[in-house]
Amino acid sequence: MMPTAPVASAGNWAASTPPLLRFLNACHRDFGSDNSGEIAHYIPELGKAHPDHFGISLATLDGHVYEVGESRVPFTIQSMSKPFVFALALDTLGAGRVEGVIGVEPSGDPFNSIRLNAENHPFNPMINAGAIACSGLILEAKGDAAFDTIRQALSRFAGRELDMDDAVYSSESATGDRNRAIGYLLRNSGVIKADVSKVLDVYFRQCSVLLTARDAAIMAATLANRGVNPVTGEQVMTPYAISRTLSVMTSSGMYDYAGEWIYRVGIPAKSGVGGGILAALPARLGLGSYSPRLDSHGNSVRGIRVCEALSSHYGLHILSRSDDARNSVIADYNIGKSASRRSRRPQERKILADHHQDVRVIELVGTLSFSNVDYVSRELASRPRPQFVIFDLRRVAAVTPAGSRLLAEEFWELARFNVTVILSGIDRASAQWKSICEWTAGLSNLRNYPLLDDAIEWAEDQVVYRHGGNIYAVETAELSEQALLAGLNDTELDRLASLGGLKTYRPGEKIIMAGAPARSLFFLRSGVVHVKLPSGIRLATVSAGMAFGEMALLETHRSADVYADASVTALEVPLADFERFREDNPRAGERIMRNLAQLLADRLILANTKLNLLTAN
Ligand code: GLN
Repeated sequence: MMPTAPVASAGNWAASTPPLLRFLNACHRDFGSDNSGEIAHYIPELGKAHPDHFGISLATLDGHVYEVGESRVPFTIQSMSKPFVFALALDTLGAGRVEGVIGVEPSGDPFNSIRLNAENHPFNPMINAGAIACSGLILEAKGDAAFDTIRQALSRFAGRELDMDDAVYSSESATGDRNRAIGYLLRNSGVIKADVSKVLDVYFRQCSVLLTARDAAIMAATLANRGVNPVTGEQVMTPYAISRTLSVMTSSGMYDYAGEWIYRVGIPAKSGVGGGILAALPARLGLGSYSPRLDSHGNSVRGIRVCEALSSHYGLHILSRSDDARNSVIADYNIGKSASRRSRRPQERKILADHHQDVRVIELVGTLSFSNVDYVSRELASRPRPQFVIFDLRRVAAVTPAGSRLLAEEFWELARFNVTVILSGIDRASAQWKSICEWTAGLSNLRNYPLLDDAIEWAEDQVVYRHGGNIYAVETAELSEQALLAGLNDTELDRLASLGGLKTYRPGEKIIMAGAPARSLFFLRSGVVHVKLPSGIRLATVSAGMAFGEMALLETHRSADVYADASVTALEVPLADFERFREDNPRAGERIMRNLAQLLADRLILANTKLNLLTAN
């Protein structure tokens, strides 16, 4: 029975219920009436569980946790501890040691089967034999601290301190002879070397750790997130241990129901006789459920139904996925379409116009995966090779290991053709770029800028140099060269010059402060200034012959800071004098306002072009 469609039951929930929560509520309601199955009695204390308790929780990889029903009722973890202790063993003792004594083949047997494989090793770590072997390995490595090491590892997966249920532990210890038999068999075949009773004590304690459906969801989400707990952000285990753990959950997590499970539900999962099930869908979610009535395989009846419903309703089968390789390129252009914010003199402008294809900018977004990066490399190869490629990565949320590898290889490929690669918008020291940086160490053609605009400006400068331009030429621009004053005659210009005072500024000096009253405008005579928002975003770089602070003509307060880049001389004209000049010289006043409108229109066109680059395809 599928949960009813949201529309049918819309009145039951507040209007703002996220659909996924609505779905979980429907599962809870619909499957809550299924009273089939039996509570596990072979561990007497488990028989005391409340048969009607039913909690569901789903944790997303951005750390949101949905909860329905008895999601905070504690129960014992039992076999759901197995995947985590296997991961712990891999990371603690090394894969070679662990894989040398525990197999990874499904056994098709029940969880408590007393049967080893042809090498006299446990079939896999998801059944009791393999799990007891894991506990033995942890004991070997940690001695008396073994159980606490396990408890702490489970706690890190859950993101909170987990305790143990003493009554369940004593109950299982008192009745656990079948597991002891398995332990002796393992010792007999050399899989465990430690004292069997000590190994079993660790195992029984580990099975008695208390958790809730919420904890199970977060633990599963940590598995689904390559070992990073999405709530605490902690990398709990290595990606290797996590992926191998998910492998054995996929093939053997549901005991003698495992084949059927992965065929029908298709989500790696693990159950426990305490009534818990956790399911980890890589890169998507973690699900935890608690309902103590079990089917004949020892899996929670209602929990299984929740997993089945979630998988079929949303089509979440792990092998039923597709992806669009193109979706990480948000913009791809050259500097002819969108240049840096630096204002350029005519000679530089000409060089850049002639060579606009030399600088290509690719803005990327989201996750850089194997397919996305491959697509980007083909896009780059499909057009004439530029001399500079800027990859803007500020919107990149993650890079998969395959994506990093391929990206590093692409950088090497570009270097072979002497193409300079410039990255913007990343912190190269951050964890996610670490491997790329390692794989590109020794690559001299790789540069890094925090801001895209700075990266474009640097590449433009290189193009200008390569074609004989000189961006730092000391140049003085007369008032007659000012774009804002175009069309004024000499008398008008002289009159205007007499109203102002010539100011000089040292490199780095602040000339205008955002928020201050706008009482003057400046005509830059020599040097370079840049206009910056208080947030640090640079709006423009202005060179000799341009005005700045000219928005004073329209606005009462300064909207941005202006700093001198180099030694600067500028004519500062008080606004009051300027207004009087306009009144006394209406023709000149009219020209100036037209020029201003033209400059603003140019800026608007530029801004629109930039916006279109991002939205148009
Ligand atoms: N502690 C239980 C046992 O070993 C765990 C079994 C399970 O949850 N399937 O019997």
